[in-house]
Amino acid sequence: MNDLRIESGSDNVPIFVSQTSLNFDKRFLEGSTPQQMLGLHIDRATYPEYGDVLIHGEDLKMELSYGQISSSGIPKEAIERFLGHQPIWTVEKWKNLDSLTITNEKKQAGVNLLRYLPDNCRVFYMPDTVHSAEFYEGENFDIIKIRGDFTQLHVLVALIHEIGHAVSKKGQDTQQRQQLKKAYSNFRNYRIKMPPEEIDLVLNEERFAWDFALDILEPFFDPPAHSYFTKEGVLAQRDAALKSFDKVVAEKMGKPYELG
Ligand SMILES: [Zn+2]
Repeated sequence: MNDLRIESGSDNVPIFVSQTSLNFDKRFLEGSTPQQMLGLHIDRATYPEYGDVLIHGEDLKMELSYGQISSSGIPKEAIERFLGHQPIWTVEKWKNLDSLTITNEKKQAGVNLLRYLPDNCRVFYMPDTVHSAEFYEGENFDIIKIRGDFTQLHVLVALIHEIGHAVSKKGQDTQQRQQLKKAYSNFRNYRIKMPPEEIDLVLNEERFAWDFALDILEPFFDPPAHSYFTKEGVLAQRDAALKSFDKVVAEKMGKPYELG
């Protein structure tokens, strides 16, 4: 029950206005698990076609700023490859994230998340009620694609996890990168069996990205900058994500996977 509206922007490109009722979310709060609380809205946000968004709840402040993806400095052909075969109206909904700062006002701790990115990595963002997050490796550029509404903290957590992948790549040499790229590609192909060492490359990479996210978020817990934002919740989001790999791992190793 959310009343997302699609409105026409000045040049007829749709803009999204998130009007999800905070009171409605508060009714869910009781009985929510820490992970479910990461899905509740901490604020209402209006996402302009391009510009700044301020999200503020309790002691947690998020400031994001985005422009056209053509301002990302990435050649048009590379952008088209990253965004795939999408209708043009979908392509135009992707923004180039210029900055994202999160602050814990209680501790005066603030961090610009994009400063961790290597020079050749960009974040493409689509304000939406649907959430997804991916890290793409290109020949000369890497892209993080993040879709969602940052008033739901699991979107923020997912973005920091993807930044963790970009940071991990900074510490790898060419050979390691090639091996990892091949491992991920094999991992996604259900027909390919993989030796345990190759599976471990993928799982260790995932764990690294989660450790990075937990490190970055440490100043935001204990006490939490927002009551919906607990370390328990983020750990549960991590565990659920890592668990989603179990089925694939079992298949890769040729073991029957038990449901439930
Ligand atoms: Zn990951």
